[in-house]
Order: sequence, then structure tokens, then C-alpha cells
Amino acid sequence: MIKTMNCTRCKTKAVLKLPRHNAAFCKDCFNSFIHDQVHKAIRSQEMFAKNDHLLVAVSGGKDSLALWNILLKLGYKTDALYVNLGIGDYSESSQEKVVHFSETVAVGYGAALHVHTVERHEGAGIRELAMMAHRPTCSTCGTIKRYQFNHAAIQHGYDVMATGHNLDDEAARLLGNVLHWQHEYLEKQGPSLPASVDGFAKKVKPLYRLTERELAAYCVLNKIDYVVEECPMAPGARTLLYKEVLNRLETESPGTKQMFYWGFLEKSRPAGTPTTIMEKDRSALHPCSLCSQPTTAEICSYCRLMARAKTSTAR
Ligand code: SF4
Ligand SMILES: [Zn+2]
Ligand SMILES: [Zn+2]
Repeated sequence: MIKTMNCTRCKTKAVLKLPRHNAAFCKDCFNSFIHDQVHKAIRSQEMFAKNDHLLVAVSGGKDSLALWNILLKLGYKTDALYVNLGIGDYSESSQEKVVHFSETVAVGYGAALHVHTVERHEGAGIRELAMMAHRPTCSTCGTIKRYQFNHAAIQHGYDVMATGHNLDDEAARLLGNVLHWQHEYLEKQGPSLPASVDGFAKKVKPLYRLTERELAAYCVLNKIDYVVEECPMAPGARTLLYKEVLNRLETESPGTKQMFYWGFLEKSRPAGTPTTIMEKDRSALHPCSLCSQPTTAEICSYCRLMARAKTSTAR
């Protein structure tokens, strides 16, 4: 927060400086800036249309709650899904934040909140399921969240699923993929992944033009109460290191993060062309023989995970 600077747009007192845009904004102009950036993301990546029905994946953190708020304010029909992972106090307090936002803000727009409780539906919390299936917690979590979000989107007929990944997340992921020359991931990294086949929802990341710091400021200025603690399972040492490195570069040379990620998007495909699912991926997908969700194997990773967890309990 700064004291003496004036808003670049309206010349009243600024509350926030944005070096990467060489600008400072008052609260109203900052909100317009955030909304403009999301609007640009939606349009340039052809994410969705005004009458599409959207489902936002909310975790109780700043990014996803900010995203839900922005999409509602921009006039999109947007419901949300919260997955309670059964991680003690962390899951309880994050659910509280989501429910609070839903009951105080989203309800005014007629938006609904779906809650999926892992302990109730999968039979145990994420940590226990991971132990039973002999898998790392975060990969177990990823499999279940991907499955349940896709399931909810298809079951309730949503056109598009949106997540709160921001510029810092995407730039750090890109750096990791480039450092390890993960060609396959690089080909698929983008803010708009079309529905590949029937049974898979289209996935978009409308916050890819905004940084973590900007989204935290948006929540504070708009009194959006979010869970500040990270998930206690978050190991992410490598991702955190990439974020730190990019932050160092950003401090020395504002605009580096956006140049890196937006530059990648422009150079890896013609301007304005959303990411496409590769033909080889499309043709490899078929319905899981147990649950019918698309998979490249005979049985999808969710059904395999649940089978492993059950076998371990039965022993
Ligand atoms: S840190 Fe791991 S367990 Fe926690 S929400 Fe993220 S993926 Fe799930
Ligand atoms: Zn202003
Ligand atoms: Zn399955």
C-alpha cells in the first residue's frame, strides 16, 4: 500500500501500485483493471460465451473465491463446487469460508454451491485414502478432485469448468516444464482446454493474466474472507522455489512473469488460438468400463485408486 501516489486512471488517491503495468490504482479503478484482465482472458482464449453455464472449483483460498466473485460481477451464470478433503481443521475452516461467501454474496446472484465430502463419498479422508492406496497424498487428491469436478460438471450439465490458477501458478509450472523439457506437458499447458470427447468438461483458467499479489489485494479491498493457510499437505518445495525465482526476477525487472508466460502462449500457437487437444489424445480416450468417464486405460485412474484403497481395507 502506498501513501502519496495518485491513481493512474482517475487521479484520486491510489491504494495499490502495480509496477508490471507501470500504474497505481484507487479501489474502483483497481477493480475495473481486474475485471478487464479477466474479460480479456475470456475473450482472447475463447473460454466461454455470455449464456454458458459455468462451474468454478472453489477451495476457500483467495484465487478461487476472487474468481467466483469476478465471474458473478461480470454477469456470468456461475455456480461452484467445493470438495471437502477431510484434512482436519484446514478443511473445516476452508469450507466455512466458502459457505460464508456463498450465503453472503453468491446467493444474491442466484448462484448455487455444491459440496462434495470425500469422507462421506469415498469412505475416508484424503490422507487415509492415500495411505490405503499406497500413493502420495497430492496425487490421490488430484485424481479425486479431477474426477469429482468433471463428474459434477457433466452430471449437472455445466458447459465449462473454471479454476483459479493465476499468473504465478502458470509461470512456475511453465518454468518447471521448460527446465525438465516436459514436451508433452508443454504441448498441453494453456488456459483453455476444450472438451476432448463427450464426458469431459471444457476447462479454463480465467485468472492467468493476474498475479497472486493482485488477487490477494482484490480480496482484501472487496472484503472477501478467504483461508490464508496453505493446505498442510502442500509439499510443493519445487513449485515454491520456481515462484521465488520468478518473484526475484519480477522485482528486478517488472513484467518478467507475464512476458514469460504470455510470450509462451503467443509463440507456441497463433495469437488467439486456444489450446487444442491433440488428435492422438482424443483417439486414445474411451469410456471407463466401471464408471464411463473418459480414460486412456480400460479402467480410469479414479476407479483404480478406489479399488486399491478398498483392497487394502479388506486385508
Ligand atoms: S496440497 Fe495436495 S492434498 Fe492439499 S489440496 Fe493440494 S493437491 Fe490436495
Ligand atoms: Zn482511480
Ligand atoms: Zn472409472
